[in-house]
Amino acid sequence: MSQLLYEGKAKQIYSTENPEEVLIHYKDDATAGNGAKKAQFEDKGVLNAAISTMIFEYLIENGIKTHLIKQVNDRDVLCEKIDIVLLEVIMRNIATGSLTSRLGIKEGTKLNPPILEFCYKKDEFNDPLINTDHALALGLATREEIETISEEARKINQLLIKLFAEIGIELVDFKVEFGRNPKGEIVLADEISPDTCRLWDVETHSKLDKDRFRQDLGNVIDAYREIHKRLLARKEK
Ligand code: UDP
Repeated sequence: MSQLLYEGKAKQIYSTENPEEVLIHYKDDATAGNGAKKAQFEDKGVLNAAISTMIFEYLIENGIKTHLIKQVNDRDVLCEKIDIVLLEVIMRNIATGSLTSRLGIKEGTKLNPPILEFCYKKDEFNDPLINTDHALALGLATREEIETISEEARKINQLLIKLFAEIGIELVDFKVEFGRNPKGEIVLADEISPDTCRLWDVETHSKLDKDRFRQDLGNVIDAYREIHKRLLARKEK
């Protein structure tokens, strides 16, 4: 019997018969501003399950360790059960959002090198920006784990820049999460989708990600469909 273990803003996690595996169920819910803004978009869960699985499969083919086992239906993905590291790992290639207001870097500036940031995954504190010392003092991970996470995040960034470039998309920034799998290894977990990336069309510069919802730009689901369509076309080539 499968049991609901955890319910997040966009996904539910269910137990399976195997104690080392879980089922991740993608919902149609969208939230922004730490839950302040809420909506539902028909088929968002189906699109994100498919998009995230295609991206994780691509990363696995390129040597990245992840929690993915296999997608089992249009909304459910079987994954290794992990102990999540309470860090939101953000990689930025192009300045936008808080970076422009916080540091005065002009919107659209190419960041060289790409900027790696850690946020403490804690809704009560609004996921504050922290550094390695904070993460160590909070006991979120060991120094070795943080080094692995940083190296993996930079590798993932290079691979994703290449993947998205192939489908006419500029990868502005994204967030990833890591966990410890049953073998104790650090693996990429959670999802990579238009909910967790900023994706700009190379030619039109239109935003094809969750900023359409955050900024009330409309056509949210059309953007997700477009990303799904292009990734699928690349895969089927
Ligand atoms: N992000 C995410 N979940 C979060 C916070 C950020 O997926 O809880 C992603 C977001 O979609 C964007 C990147 O991480 O691609 C940077 O977002 P951040 O919230 O740090 O925004 P900014 O500081 O740039 O306004």
